[in-house]
Amino acid sequence: MSVTATLETPQTGKYEQPTGLFINNEFVKGVDGKTFETINPATEKPITSVHEATEKDVDIAVSAARKAFEETWRLVTPEQRGKYLAKLADLFEQNLEQLAAIESLDNGKAFTMAKADIGNCAGCLRYYGGWADKIEGKVIDTNADTFSYTKQEPIGVCAQIIPWNFPLLMWAWKIGPAIACGNTVILKSAEQTPLGALYAAKLVKEAGFPPGVINILSGFGKIAGAALSSHMDVDKVAFTGSTVVGRQVMKAAAGSNLKKVTLELGGKSPNIVFKDADIDNAISWVNFGIFFNHGQCCCAGSRVYVQEEIYDKFVEKFKERAQKNVVGDPFAADTFQGPQVSQLQYDRIMGYIDAGKKEGAKIETGGERHGKEGYFIQPTIFSNVSSDMKIMQEEIFGPVCSIAKFKDEAEAIRLGNVTTYGLAAAVHTSSINTAIRVSNALRAGTVWVNQYNMLHHQLPFGGYKESGIGRELGEAALANYSQTKTVSIRLGDALFG
Ligand code: ADP
Repeated sequence: MSVTATLETPQTGKYEQPTGLFINNEFVKGVDGKTFETINPATEKPITSVHEATEKDVDIAVSAARKAFEETWRLVTPEQRGKYLAKLADLFEQNLEQLAAIESLDNGKAFTMAKADIGNCAGCLRYYGGWADKIEGKVIDTNADTFSYTKQEPIGVCAQIIPWNFPLLMWAWKIGPAIACGNTVILKSAEQTPLGALYAAKLVKEAGFPPGVINILSGFGKIAGAALSSHMDVDKVAFTGSTVVGRQVMKAAAGSNLKKVTLELGGKSPNIVFKDADIDNAISWVNFGIFFNHGQCCCAGSRVYVQEEIYDKFVEKFKERAQKNVVGDPFAADTFQGPQVSQLQYDRIMGYIDAGKKEGAKIETGGERHGKEGYFIQPTIFSNVSSDMKIMQEEIFGPVCSIAKFKDEAEAIRLGNVTTYGLAAAVHTSSINTAIRVSNALRAGTVWVNQYNMLHHQLPFGGYKESGIGRELGEAALANYSQTKTVSIRLGDALFG
Protein backbone atom coordinates (compact mmCIF):
# COMPACT_ATOMS: atom_id res chain seq x y z
CA MET A 1 0.00 0.00 0.00
CA SER A 2 1.30 3.45 -0.90
CA VAL A 3 1.56 6.30 1.59
CA THR A 4 -1.19 8.42 0.01
CA ALA A 5 -4.73 7.72 -1.16
CA THR A 6 -7.06 9.70 -3.39
CA LEU A 7 -10.22 10.33 -1.38
CA GLU A 8 -13.31 12.42 -1.87
CA THR A 9 -15.51 14.46 0.45
CA PRO A 10 -18.95 15.81 -0.49
CA GLN A 11 -17.73 19.29 0.42
CA THR A 12 -14.31 19.53 -1.22
CA GLY A 13 -14.31 16.81 -3.89
CA LYS A 14 -11.21 14.72 -4.60
CA TYR A 15 -8.04 15.26 -2.60
CA GLU A 16 -4.76 13.50 -1.76
CA GLN A 17 -4.84 12.02 1.75
CA PRO A 18 -1.51 11.03 3.36
CA THR A 19 -1.79 7.55 4.92
CA GLY A 20 1.80 6.87 6.08
CA LEU A 21 3.41 7.41 9.45
CA PHE A 22 4.90 10.91 9.63
CA ILE A 23 8.46 10.60 10.95
CA ASN A 24 11.32 13.03 10.24
CA ASN A 25 9.02 15.06 7.96
CA GLU A 26 8.37 12.08 5.65
CA PHE A 27 5.39 9.80 5.25
CA VAL A 28 6.60 6.22 5.59
CA LYS A 29 5.23 2.70 5.84
CA GLY A 30 5.32 0.92 9.20
CA VAL A 31 8.23 -1.50 9.76
CA ASP A 32 5.87 -4.45 10.20
CA GLY A 33 3.91 -3.46 7.08
CA LYS A 34 0.60 -3.37 8.99
CA THR A 35 -2.36 -1.21 7.99
CA PHE A 36 -5.85 -0.66 9.37
CA GLU A 37 -9.13 0.69 8.05
CA THR A 38 -10.86 3.83 9.13
CA ILE A 39 -14.66 3.80 8.93
CA ASN A 40 -17.10 6.53 7.91
CA PRO A 41 -19.51 6.53 10.88
CA ALA A 42 -22.34 8.01 8.79
CA THR A 43 -22.31 5.07 6.35
CA GLU A 44 -20.48 2.33 8.33
CA LYS A 45 -18.28 1.81 5.24
CA PRO A 46 -14.46 1.94 5.14
CA ILE A 47 -13.01 5.24 3.91
CA THR A 48 -9.44 4.02 3.40
CA SER A 49 -6.60 2.25 5.21
CA VAL A 50 -3.67 3.88 6.95
CA HIS A 51 -0.29 2.51 8.00
CA GLU A 52 -0.12 1.27 11.57
CA ALA A 53 2.68 2.08 14.02
CA THR A 54 3.91 -0.80 16.17
CA GLU A 55 6.61 -0.72 18.88
CA LYS A 56 9.34 -0.63 16.23
CA ASP A 57 7.93 2.49 14.60
CA VAL A 58 7.54 4.09 18.01
CA ASP A 59 11.27 3.47 18.60
CA ILE A 60 12.13 5.09 15.25
CA ALA A 61 9.90 8.10 15.92
CA VAL A 62 11.31 8.54 19.44
CA SER A 63 14.88 8.44 18.05
CA ALA A 64 13.94 11.03 15.43
CA ALA A 65 12.40 13.29 18.08
CA ARG A 66 15.44 12.82 20.38
CA LYS A 67 17.91 13.65 17.61
CA ALA A 68 15.92 16.72 16.59
CA PHE A 69 15.71 17.87 20.21
CA GLU A 70 19.43 17.49 20.87
CA GLU A 71 20.84 18.59 17.52
CA THR A 72 18.56 21.10 15.88
CA TRP A 73 15.53 22.22 17.83
CA ARG A 74 17.44 23.40 20.91
CA LEU A 75 19.34 25.85 18.71
CA VAL A 76 16.25 27.34 17.10
CA THR A 77 15.39 30.68 18.73
CA PRO A 78 12.15 31.09 20.68
CA GLU A 79 11.14 33.77 18.16
CA GLN A 80 11.57 31.30 15.30
CA ARG A 81 9.53 28.64 17.14
CA GLY A 82 6.77 31.21 17.36
CA LYS A 83 7.03 31.93 13.65
CA TYR A 84 6.68 28.25 12.79
CA LEU A 85 3.53 27.99 14.91
CA ALA A 86 2.10 31.16 13.40
CA LYS A 87 2.78 29.79 9.91
CA LEU A 88 1.09 26.51 10.84
CA ALA A 89 -1.92 28.49 12.09
CA ASP A 90 -2.07 30.32 8.73
CA LEU A 91 -1.96 26.99 6.90
CA PHE A 92 -4.83 25.63 9.03
CA GLU A 93 -6.86 28.67 7.98
CA GLN A 94 -5.91 28.32 4.31
CA ASN A 95 -6.92 24.64 4.42
CA LEU A 96 -9.94 25.15 6.67
CA GLU A 97 -12.57 23.64 4.36
CA GLN A 98 -10.42 20.61 3.55
CA LEU A 99 -9.47 19.90 7.17
CA ALA A 100 -13.07 20.33 8.31
CA ALA A 101 -14.34 18.03 5.57
CA ILE A 102 -11.82 15.35 6.62
CA GLU A 103 -13.01 15.66 10.23
CA SER A 104 -16.64 15.26 9.18
CA LEU A 105 -15.83 12.28 6.99
CA ASP A 106 -13.71 10.44 9.54
CA ASN A 107 -15.41 11.42 12.80
CA GLY A 108 -18.98 12.12 11.64
CA LYS A 109 -19.20 15.57 13.19
CA ALA A 110 -21.40 18.17 11.52
CA PHE A 111 -19.41 20.08 8.92
CA THR A 112 -20.44 23.47 10.35
CA MET A 113 -19.09 22.39 13.76
CA ALA A 114 -15.94 20.94 12.18
CA LYS A 115 -15.24 24.31 10.57
CA ALA A 116 -15.47 25.96 13.98
CA ASP A 117 -13.01 23.34 15.33
CA ILE A 118 -10.46 24.17 12.64
CA GLY A 119 -10.81 27.92 13.28
CA ASN A 120 -10.14 27.16 16.94
CA CYS A 121 -7.09 25.04 16.02
CA ALA A 122 -5.63 28.02 14.16
CA GLY A 123 -6.42 30.29 17.11
CA CYS A 124 -4.72 27.90 19.53
CA LEU A 125 -1.57 27.42 17.41
CA ARG A 126 -1.21 31.17 16.87
CA TYR A 127 -1.78 31.87 20.57
CA TYR A 128 1.04 29.49 21.56
CA GLY A 129 3.22 30.91 18.79
CA GLY A 130 2.83 34.20 20.66
CA TRP A 131 3.99 32.60 23.90
CA ALA A 132 7.16 31.05 22.45
CA ASP A 133 9.37 34.11 23.12
CA LYS A 134 7.70 35.07 26.38
CA ILE A 135 8.65 32.07 28.49
CA GLU A 136 10.86 33.61 31.12
CA GLY A 137 12.55 32.86 34.42
CA LYS A 138 13.25 35.05 37.44
CA VAL A 139 16.18 36.52 39.32
CA ILE A 140 15.83 35.52 42.98
CA ASP A 141 17.76 37.48 45.57
CA THR A 142 18.81 35.36 48.56
CA ASN A 143 21.90 37.23 49.86
CA ALA A 144 24.66 39.58 48.73
CA ASP A 145 27.13 36.77 48.02
CA THR A 146 24.96 34.88 45.56
CA PHE A 147 23.36 35.59 42.22
CA SER A 148 20.54 33.15 41.47
CA TYR A 149 18.12 32.86 38.61
CA THR A 150 15.65 30.39 37.21
CA LYS A 151 14.98 29.51 33.61
CA GLN A 152 12.16 27.54 32.07
CA GLU A 153 13.55 24.72 29.97
CA PRO A 154 11.72 22.28 27.69
CA ILE A 155 11.07 18.80 29.07
CA GLY A 156 12.46 17.11 25.95
CA VAL A 157 10.79 14.38 23.93
CA CYS A 158 7.04 14.43 24.58
CA ALA A 159 4.55 11.70 23.67
CA GLN A 160 1.01 12.93 23.12
CA ILE A 161 -1.90 10.51 22.92
CA ILE A 162 -5.19 11.99 21.77
CA PRO A 163 -8.82 10.82 21.45
CA TRP A 164 -11.24 10.77 18.52
CA ASN A 165 -13.91 13.26 19.63
CA PHE A 166 -12.05 16.41 18.50
CA PRO A 167 -9.27 14.87 16.42
CA LEU A 168 -7.69 18.09 15.16
CA LEU A 169 -8.54 20.35 18.06
CA MET A 170 -6.78 17.92 20.43
CA TRP A 171 -3.87 17.85 17.97
CA ALA A 172 -3.56 21.66 18.21
CA TRP A 173 -4.08 21.81 21.99
CA LYS A 174 -1.25 19.33 22.45
CA ILE A 175 1.22 20.50 19.82
CA GLY A 176 0.86 24.27 20.43
CA PRO A 177 2.20 24.52 23.99
CA ALA A 178 4.72 21.66 23.58
CA ILE A 179 6.36 23.36 20.61
CA ALA A 180 6.16 26.85 22.11
CA CYS A 181 8.19 25.57 25.09
CA GLY A 182 10.84 24.00 22.83
CA ASN A 183 9.99 20.29 23.07
CA THR A 184 9.86 17.76 20.25
CA VAL A 185 6.79 15.53 19.96
CA ILE A 186 5.46 12.19 18.85
CA LEU A 187 1.68 12.45 18.66
CA LYS A 188 -0.49 9.35 18.33
CA SER A 189 -3.94 9.95 16.91
CA ALA A 190 -6.91 7.81 17.90
CA GLU A 191 -7.38 4.68 15.79
CA GLN A 192 -10.95 5.73 14.92
CA THR A 193 -9.86 9.06 13.38
CA PRO A 194 -6.36 9.04 11.89
CA LEU A 195 -6.97 11.12 8.76
CA GLY A 196 -7.03 14.74 9.96
CA ALA A 197 -3.83 14.31 11.98
CA LEU A 198 -2.00 13.08 8.87
CA TYR A 199 -3.29 15.87 6.65
CA ALA A 200 -2.15 18.34 9.33
CA ALA A 201 1.27 16.61 9.32
CA LYS A 202 1.60 17.61 5.67
CA LEU A 203 1.08 21.22 6.81
CA VAL A 204 3.81 20.80 9.46
CA LYS A 205 6.28 20.14 6.66
CA GLU A 206 4.92 23.03 4.61
CA ALA A 207 5.32 25.36 7.61
CA GLY A 208 9.06 24.57 7.56
CA PHE A 209 9.51 22.75 10.87
CA PRO A 210 12.85 20.91 10.90
CA PRO A 211 12.60 17.09 10.52
CA GLY A 212 11.86 15.14 13.70
CA VAL A 213 10.35 18.02 15.66
CA ILE A 214 6.74 16.90 15.11
CA ASN A 215 6.10 13.22 14.39
CA ILE A 216 2.59 11.81 13.89
CA LEU A 217 1.72 8.14 14.28
CA SER A 218 -1.51 6.29 13.51
CA GLY A 219 -1.97 3.21 15.65
CA PHE A 220 -3.75 1.40 18.43
CA GLY A 221 -3.72 2.30 22.10
CA LYS A 222 -2.63 -1.08 23.39
CA ILE A 223 0.31 -1.21 20.96
CA ALA A 224 1.61 2.21 19.93
CA GLY A 225 0.01 4.08 22.86
CA ALA A 226 1.37 1.62 25.41
CA ALA A 227 4.83 1.67 23.75
CA LEU A 228 4.94 5.46 24.02
CA SER A 229 3.82 5.64 27.64
CA SER A 230 6.33 2.99 28.75
CA HIS A 231 9.22 4.16 26.54
CA MET A 232 12.51 4.73 28.36
CA ASP A 233 13.54 7.65 26.12
CA VAL A 234 10.28 9.62 26.26
CA ASP A 235 10.50 12.41 28.85
CA LYS A 236 6.82 13.20 29.14
CA VAL A 237 3.46 11.77 28.17
CA ALA A 238 0.33 13.87 27.75
CA PHE A 239 -2.87 11.90 27.42
CA THR A 240 -6.48 12.81 26.71
CA GLY A 241 -9.08 10.05 26.91
CA SER A 242 -10.91 7.84 29.35
CA THR A 243 -10.09 7.68 33.05
CA VAL A 244 -9.52 3.91 32.75
CA VAL A 245 -6.77 4.39 30.14
CA GLY A 246 -5.41 7.44 32.00
CA ARG A 247 -4.65 5.17 34.95
CA GLN A 248 -2.83 2.74 32.61
CA VAL A 249 -0.74 5.54 31.14
CA MET A 250 0.23 6.72 34.61
CA LYS A 251 1.15 3.18 35.66
CA ALA A 252 3.25 2.74 32.51
CA ALA A 253 5.08 5.99 33.28
CA ALA A 254 5.65 4.91 36.88
CA GLY A 255 6.85 1.47 35.79
CA SER A 256 9.33 2.81 33.21
CA ASN A 257 11.36 6.01 33.55
CA LEU A 258 8.96 8.07 35.71
CA LYS A 259 8.29 10.34 32.75
CA LYS A 260 6.17 13.38 33.54
CA VAL A 261 2.45 12.76 33.10
CA THR A 262 -0.44 15.08 32.36
CA LEU A 263 -3.94 13.70 31.93
CA GLU A 264 -7.20 15.14 30.65
CA LEU A 265 -9.81 12.52 31.46
CA GLY A 266 -13.51 11.87 31.73
CA GLY A 267 -16.31 13.80 33.32
CA LYS A 268 -19.91 13.69 34.45
CA SER A 269 -20.49 17.38 34.65
CA PRO A 270 -23.41 18.99 36.48
CA ASN A 271 -25.48 21.67 34.78
CA ILE A 272 -27.47 23.40 37.54
CA VAL A 273 -30.53 25.52 36.75
CA PHE A 274 -31.92 27.77 39.51
CA LYS A 275 -35.53 28.95 39.49
CA ASP A 276 -34.48 32.57 38.87
CA ALA A 277 -32.66 31.70 35.61
CA ASP A 278 -33.93 32.91 32.24
CA ILE A 279 -35.51 29.58 31.37
CA ASP A 280 -35.30 29.78 27.56
CA ASN A 281 -31.69 30.84 27.70
CA ALA A 282 -30.87 28.08 30.19
CA ILE A 283 -32.57 25.46 28.00
CA SER A 284 -30.63 26.57 24.98
CA TRP A 285 -27.33 26.15 26.88
CA VAL A 286 -28.36 22.90 28.53
CA ASN A 287 -29.26 21.55 25.09
CA PHE A 288 -25.90 22.66 23.70
CA GLY A 289 -24.16 21.41 26.86
CA ILE A 290 -25.20 17.82 26.32
CA PHE A 291 -25.92 17.41 22.60
CA PHE A 292 -22.99 19.38 21.09
CA ASN A 293 -20.60 17.01 19.28
CA HIS A 294 -23.23 14.26 19.74
CA GLY A 295 -22.55 14.19 23.48
CA GLN A 296 -18.97 13.09 22.79
CA CYS A 297 -17.36 15.75 25.00
CA CYS A 298 -15.42 15.00 28.16
CA CYS A 299 -17.01 18.13 29.65
CA ALA A 300 -20.57 17.35 28.45
CA GLY A 301 -23.24 18.66 30.82
CA SER A 302 -24.75 15.21 31.29
CA ARG A 303 -26.26 15.68 34.77
CA VAL A 304 -28.91 18.38 34.71
CA TYR A 305 -30.26 19.55 38.09
CA VAL A 306 -33.29 21.84 38.03
CA GLN A 307 -34.82 23.64 41.03
CA GLU A 308 -38.12 22.00 41.93
CA GLU A 309 -40.36 25.07 41.38
CA ILE A 310 -39.52 25.15 37.64
CA TYR A 311 -38.74 21.46 37.10
CA ASP A 312 -41.94 20.43 35.20
CA LYS A 313 -41.92 23.48 32.95
CA PHE A 314 -38.20 23.04 32.26
CA VAL A 315 -38.50 19.37 31.32
CA GLU A 316 -41.41 20.07 28.97
CA LYS A 317 -39.64 22.93 27.19
CA PHE A 318 -36.25 21.16 27.08
CA LYS A 319 -37.89 18.15 25.46
CA GLU A 320 -39.39 20.40 22.75
CA ARG A 321 -35.99 22.03 22.21
CA ALA A 322 -34.13 18.72 21.91
CA GLN A 323 -36.64 17.41 19.40
CA LYS A 324 -35.72 20.32 17.12
CA ASN A 325 -32.04 19.29 16.96
CA VAL A 326 -31.45 18.13 13.40
CA VAL A 327 -29.82 14.70 13.33
CA GLY A 328 -28.41 13.38 10.06
CA ASP A 329 -25.82 13.65 7.29
CA PRO A 330 -22.81 15.51 8.71
CA PHE A 331 -22.42 17.37 5.42
CA ALA A 332 -26.01 18.72 5.29
CA ALA A 333 -26.09 22.45 6.03
CA ASP A 334 -28.68 22.26 8.84
CA THR A 335 -27.29 19.18 10.65
CA PHE A 336 -26.53 19.72 14.32
CA GLN A 337 -25.91 16.11 15.32
CA GLY A 338 -24.14 13.48 13.24
CA PRO A 339 -23.48 9.82 14.05
CA GLN A 340 -21.54 8.48 17.04
CA VAL A 341 -17.96 7.68 16.07
CA SER A 342 -18.06 3.87 15.98
CA GLN A 343 -20.11 0.72 16.41
CA LEU A 344 -18.45 0.22 19.79
CA GLN A 345 -19.50 3.66 21.02
CA TYR A 346 -22.98 3.19 19.58
CA ASP A 347 -23.36 -0.11 21.47
CA ARG A 348 -22.03 1.36 24.71
CA ILE A 349 -24.47 4.27 24.57
CA MET A 350 -27.45 2.05 23.71
CA GLY A 351 -26.41 -0.12 26.68
CA TYR A 352 -26.66 2.92 28.96
CA ILE A 353 -30.05 3.81 27.51
CA ASP A 354 -31.26 0.28 28.29
CA ALA A 355 -29.85 0.56 31.81
CA GLY A 356 -31.73 3.84 32.33
CA LYS A 357 -34.97 2.27 31.17
CA LYS A 358 -34.48 -0.78 33.39
CA GLU A 359 -33.59 1.31 36.43
CA GLY A 360 -36.90 3.15 36.10
CA ALA A 361 -35.89 6.59 34.79
CA LYS A 362 -38.50 8.18 32.52
CA ILE A 363 -37.62 8.68 28.86
CA GLU A 364 -38.90 12.13 27.86
CA THR A 365 -37.64 11.92 24.30
CA GLY A 366 -35.36 9.75 22.14
CA GLY A 367 -33.91 6.48 23.38
CA GLU A 368 -33.73 4.83 19.96
CA ARG A 369 -31.53 4.51 16.90
CA HIS A 370 -32.00 7.29 14.34
CA GLY A 371 -32.33 6.07 10.73
CA LYS A 372 -31.21 2.75 9.29
CA GLU A 373 -27.59 3.29 8.36
CA GLY A 374 -24.77 4.89 10.38
CA TYR A 375 -24.25 5.09 14.13
CA PHE A 376 -26.98 7.67 14.74
CA ILE A 377 -28.78 7.91 18.10
CA GLN A 378 -31.75 10.15 18.86
CA PRO A 379 -31.14 12.97 21.34
CA THR A 380 -32.28 11.32 24.57
CA ILE A 381 -33.54 12.85 27.81
CA PHE A 382 -34.20 10.88 30.97
CA SER A 383 -36.12 12.60 33.78
CA ASN A 384 -36.64 11.55 37.42
CA VAL A 385 -33.13 10.14 37.54
CA SER A 386 -31.87 9.35 41.03
CA SER A 387 -28.25 9.64 42.14
CA ASP A 388 -27.76 5.88 42.45
CA MET A 389 -28.69 5.14 38.83
CA LYS A 390 -25.93 4.15 36.43
CA ILE A 391 -26.93 6.88 33.96
CA MET A 392 -26.39 9.52 36.68
CA GLN A 393 -23.03 8.10 37.76
CA GLU A 394 -21.10 6.95 34.71
CA GLU A 395 -19.80 8.86 31.73
CA ILE A 396 -21.99 7.88 28.75
CA PHE A 397 -20.18 9.93 26.07
CA GLY A 398 -23.26 10.16 23.90
CA PRO A 399 -26.43 12.23 23.36
CA VAL A 400 -28.03 11.16 26.62
CA CYS A 401 -29.00 13.52 29.39
CA SER A 402 -30.16 12.73 32.94
CA ILE A 403 -32.33 15.23 34.82
CA ALA A 404 -33.20 15.45 38.51
CA LYS A 405 -34.63 18.15 40.76
CA PHE A 406 -33.13 19.94 43.76
CA LYS A 407 -34.63 21.98 46.61
CA ASP A 408 -32.12 24.65 47.50
CA GLU A 409 -28.58 25.90 46.93
CA ALA A 410 -27.05 23.54 49.48
CA GLU A 411 -28.59 20.52 47.79
CA ALA A 412 -27.52 21.75 44.34
CA ILE A 413 -23.92 21.99 45.54
CA ARG A 414 -24.05 18.58 47.21
CA LEU A 415 -25.44 16.94 44.06
CA GLY A 416 -23.05 18.84 41.83
CA ASN A 417 -20.06 17.47 43.74
CA VAL A 418 -21.32 13.94 44.25
CA THR A 419 -19.23 12.18 41.55
CA THR A 420 -15.55 11.27 41.48
CA TYR A 421 -15.12 13.50 38.42
CA GLY A 422 -14.46 17.24 38.42
CA LEU A 423 -13.88 18.48 34.89
CA ALA A 424 -16.58 21.11 34.38
CA ALA A 425 -19.87 22.41 35.77
CA ALA A 426 -22.37 25.15 35.03
CA VAL A 427 -24.76 27.36 36.97
CA HIS A 428 -27.77 29.14 35.47
CA THR A 429 -29.13 31.97 37.59
CA SER A 430 -29.90 35.67 37.39
CA SER A 431 -28.29 36.28 40.79
CA ILE A 432 -24.61 37.18 40.70
CA ASN A 433 -24.31 36.16 44.35
CA THR A 434 -25.71 32.68 43.69
CA ALA A 435 -23.48 32.36 40.63
CA ILE A 436 -20.29 33.16 42.53
CA ARG A 437 -21.18 31.23 45.71
CA VAL A 438 -22.05 28.08 43.78
CA SER A 439 -19.07 28.41 41.40
CA ASN A 440 -16.77 28.66 44.41
CA ALA A 441 -18.29 25.56 45.98
CA LEU A 442 -18.22 23.31 42.91
CA ARG A 443 -15.15 21.10 42.67
CA ALA A 444 -14.51 21.41 38.94
CA GLY A 445 -11.72 22.79 36.76
CA THR A 446 -14.12 25.01 34.79
CA VAL A 447 -17.43 26.51 35.89
CA TRP A 448 -19.60 28.20 33.28
CA VAL A 449 -22.26 30.70 34.35
CA ASN A 450 -25.28 31.15 32.08
CA GLN A 451 -23.47 29.35 29.24
CA TYR A 452 -21.89 25.98 28.47
CA ASN A 453 -19.00 24.45 26.51
CA MET A 454 -17.49 27.87 25.86
CA LEU A 455 -13.85 26.83 25.74
CA HIS A 456 -11.24 29.30 24.57
CA HIS A 457 -7.54 28.81 23.96
CA GLN A 458 -6.75 31.64 26.42
CA LEU A 459 -8.65 29.93 29.26
CA PRO A 460 -7.12 27.02 31.20
CA PHE A 461 -9.05 23.74 31.04
CA GLY A 462 -8.57 20.56 33.05
CA GLY A 463 -9.81 18.38 35.81
CA TYR A 464 -10.24 18.34 39.55
CA LYS A 465 -10.45 14.92 41.22
CA GLU A 466 -10.37 11.94 38.81
CA SER A 467 -10.83 14.14 35.75
CA GLY A 468 -7.14 14.74 35.32
CA ILE A 469 -3.77 16.16 36.20
CA GLY A 470 -2.46 19.44 34.79
CA ARG A 471 -4.14 22.10 32.71
CA GLU A 472 -4.42 22.56 28.97
CA LEU A 473 -4.81 25.89 27.19
CA GLY A 474 -3.96 29.35 28.46
CA GLU A 475 -0.70 30.23 30.13
CA ALA A 476 -1.30 27.31 32.51
CA ALA A 477 -0.49 24.75 29.78
CA LEU A 478 3.09 26.02 29.56
CA ALA A 479 3.68 24.41 32.96
CA ASN A 480 2.90 21.03 31.38
CA TYR A 481 5.73 21.40 28.89
CA SER A 482 8.52 23.21 30.72
CA GLN A 483 10.61 22.63 33.81
CA THR A 484 12.32 25.08 36.09
CA LYS A 485 16.09 25.13 36.36
CA THR A 486 17.70 27.09 39.19
CA VAL A 487 21.21 28.45 38.63
CA SER A 488 22.94 29.81 41.70
CA ILE A 489 26.31 31.61 41.38
CA ARG A 490 28.68 32.36 44.22
CA LEU A 491 29.88 35.97 44.15
CA GLY A 492 31.70 36.19 47.48
CA ASP A 493 34.47 34.20 49.13
CA ALA A 494 34.38 30.53 49.93
CA LEU A 495 32.20 29.93 52.98
CA PHE A 496 34.23 27.19 54.62
CA GLY A 497 37.77 28.47 54.15
P1 ADP B 1 -12.25 5.82 24.21
O1 ADP B 1 -12.59 4.76 25.23
O2 ADP B 1 -13.16 6.95 24.30
O3 ADP B 1 -12.00 5.33 22.83
P2 ADP B 1 -9.54 5.80 25.10
O4 ADP B 1 -9.18 6.39 26.40
O5 ADP B 1 -9.62 4.31 24.98
O6 ADP B 1 -10.89 6.46 24.68
O7 ADP B 1 -8.56 6.29 23.95
C1 ADP B 1 -7.98 7.55 23.90
C2 ADP B 1 -6.59 7.42 23.30
O8 ADP B 1 -5.82 6.55 24.12
C3 ADP B 1 -6.55 6.79 21.92
O9 ADP B 1 -5.53 7.41 21.15
C4 ADP B 1 -6.18 5.35 22.20
O10 ADP B 1 -5.52 4.71 21.13
C5 ADP B 1 -5.24 5.51 23.37
N1 ADP B 1 -5.09 4.33 24.23
C6 ADP B 1 -5.98 3.35 24.47
N2 ADP B 1 -5.46 2.41 25.30
C7 ADP B 1 -4.20 2.82 25.60
C8 ADP B 1 -3.14 2.29 26.43
N3 ADP B 1 -3.28 1.17 27.10
N4 ADP B 1 -2.00 3.01 26.51
C9 ADP B 1 -1.85 4.18 25.86
N5 ADP B 1 -2.78 4.70 25.05
C10 ADP B 1 -3.96 4.05 24.93
